[in-house]
Amino acid sequence: MAGQRGSVPEQEETALTYILVTGGAGYIGSHACKALKAAGYTPVTYDNLSTGWQDAVKFGPFEQGDLRDRERLDAVFAQYQPAAVMHFAALSQVGEAMSEPGRYWANNVGGSLTLIEAAVAAGCLDFVFSSTCATYGEHDNVVLDENTPQHPLNAYGASKRAVEDILRDFGASHGLRSVIFRYFNVAGADPEAAVGEFHHPETHLVPLVLDAIDGKRDALTIFGTDYDTADGTCVRDYVHVCDLVDAHVLGLRWLTDGKGSEVFNLGTGTGFSVREVMDKAGEVTGRAVPHVTGPRRAGDCTKLVSGSVRAATVLGWEATRSNLETMIADAWRWHKVGAYER
Ligand code: UDP
Repeated sequence: MAGQRGSVPEQEETALTYILVTGGAGYIGSHACKALKAAGYTPVTYDNLSTGWQDAVKFGPFEQGDLRDRERLDAVFAQYQPAAVMHFAALSQVGEAMSEPGRYWANNVGGSLTLIEAAVAAGCLDFVFSSTCATYGEHDNVVLDENTPQHPLNAYGASKRAVEDILRDFGASHGLRSVIFRYFNVAGADPEAAVGEFHHPETHLVPLVLDAIDGKRDALTIFGTDYDTADGTCVRDYVHVCDLVDAHVLGLRWLTDGKGSEVFNLGTGTGFSVREVMDKAGEVTGRAVPHVTGPRRAGDCTKLVSGSVRAATVLGWEATRSNLETMIADAWRWHKVGAYER
């Protein structure tokens, strides 16, 4: 199958540059599709809708399928002959990864391996991968840059690190070229509110804070107030989803320009505590955040802040929206209009 022409009309084949976006119906993937479209590409969303939303697929064709379905993947590669893969599809909840690690290994590692093998078989050798700072694990008082040893604390981080290893091995053996992005905490939404963050169930801090403000849930629980930080709550480096996906477009161009495999942190270098995020949300929305304090959440690190500017210096990445106020304001705008229907 791989390498043969699919059902796409002849004139489109010459005019369009397809990028296969796994997880394109999810939070980050849908924003990536919007950015790709704006950059002149046609994103093809490949998603099993286990956590994504068909309503979020607005910027190119949708192909429903699972990462572990090799036959389906081969057919999609053959139909579109994508110039590259952007791989977002993954299970991504730390709490769930602690209680159900097998699903993380099967889906994130097994699924990614199947995808990578299908891409190589189809001759699609440029690959942008969504990894995570959770691959670093706990490093007290250490600047987290791309050379920091990776000791993930949970199956989520471990599964992402494993895929990084697979990409390196396939680079050496099959000429696969990859740009790996290790995300810090992604927040915010498309400023036009065409797409946004919507998980079910929701586990991420910013949408939970906005839900609590809006009375959609009783109160936010702060997970741990006894961490070794200024106010006792965990510190994270929040990056705006639009800035994050801009980096992916730059990473794609890096590869299609013929440059080699790279790893980049995507964070701003500034950390905010849970309490600081709550305070800023109160300021932006003009409403107090109902909250209670609770025990630490298993698998959480004290502090995760990027110590690298490689994405800026090497790729020319500029994080223009990644200040807390803009991230929360954009998330709040989306929160008021946005929801997807199953
Ligand atoms: N957090 C919290 N209450 C919640 C959800 C999250 O206190 O209901 C904290 C969590 O412990 C972490 C930070 O907020 O320190 C960011 O968590 P999130 O789940 O958004 O992202 P993660 O850091 O797990 O990628």
